[in-house]
Amino acid sequence: MKKNIFSSLRALGDPSMGRALLKKLETLLGRYGQPLRFMEVCGTHTVSIFRSGLRSLLPPGLTHISGPGCPVCVTHDSEITACLHLAKKTGICLASFGDLLRVPGPDGLSLKDARALGAWVEVIYSPQDAMALARKYRQAQVVFLGAGFETTAPAVAACLRLAKREKLENFYVLSLHKLVPPALRALLHDGDAGTVDAFILPGHVSSILGMEPYRFIAEEFLRPGVITGFEPADIIQALIMTLQTLLENRPAILNQYSRAVSPQGNPKAREIMLEVFRPQNALWRGLGELPASGLTPREDYADFDAWRVFGLEPCETAPPAGCRCGDVLKGKINPPECVLFARACTPAKPVGPCMVSSEGSCAAWYR
Ligand code: SF4
Repeated sequence: MKKNIFSSLRALGDPSMGRALLKKLETLLGRYGQPLRFMEVCGTHTVSIFRSGLRSLLPPGLTHISGPGCPVCVTHDSEITACLHLAKKTGICLASFGDLLRVPGPDGLSLKDARALGAWVEVIYSPQDAMALARKYRQAQVVFLGAGFETTAPAVAACLRLAKREKLENFYVLSLHKLVPPALRALLHDGDAGTVDAFILPGHVSSILGMEPYRFIAEEFLRPGVITGFEPADIIQALIMTLQTLLENRPAILNQYSRAVSPQGNPKAREIMLEVFRPQNALWRGLGELPASGLTPREDYADFDAWRVFGLEPCETAPPAGCRCGDVLKGKINPPECVLFARACTPAKPVGPCMVSSEGSCAAWYR
């Protein structure tokens, strides 16, 4: 028995229920008779698994891998470089969520450093806050740094619709959005990460997408995937469901989080998102350029597109020397296998984005 089992079981809410679920999981894994590597692709799952101690409770043979589920972590170096380039321009106010500010660019400087050197960078909590800045500072050009997955893109799209209606001419979005299903496809095609046996699918993203966009995982790659809630008991239950489908030899996409995710997701949110944005190829840290895995404003919204208005292009850049965030995001290594982990790279002085964000794997391992 692991030494933190009692505190971990308390984190499951009801220790007796936790014990029963873990026992069932162990029994099913025994019946399955082979090791199982499962990947979660959601920063909130990463945090929940580490914070609850669930990792240490998993039966031997069940291996947890974190995938590309943290939006700040998957933002490519060349996109960080574009943000830093904009920060140098006079009259531009960058509006960003806090985590992105601390991601070092290829030369080690972050937006936080740029701000200390005089750049106008504001921390905001929603795209609406960025619009409020644009209304307040009419003489400035306010650029919202739009990093996030399908969960945040509809809200950004709604802001662009409103900005167009208001004729808010000094508001722009630098779209860094990423779409989750193309990344899962890329992982399954990748030789090493292809050894992932099952996916714990993101709860928030799925509340927008529903189940359909994940079907290819089961149908083409014969792997199960379970849309899962964020309590430790949810995650154990999802693993039980995973093993049940494997034992029945019927890999499928299942929904453990039905209290929040409907099979069809949120069609209205998708409609707004796709009215304003269209899919385009995007660069992902670790995964490279993936087809139709990002979002760019449609022609009707071109005047709000910071890439276009400010003539920015993603450019070739190298990740920080020694940083293996790319391999961490693909589940090829665990963070401690990076030689910089907990030495040159800590949450107080991060070298790569996976140590910056509270949802990053390296930060979760470190903490
Ligand atoms: Fe990158 Fe730091 Fe993680 Fe190494 S420990 S992979 S340098 S974030």
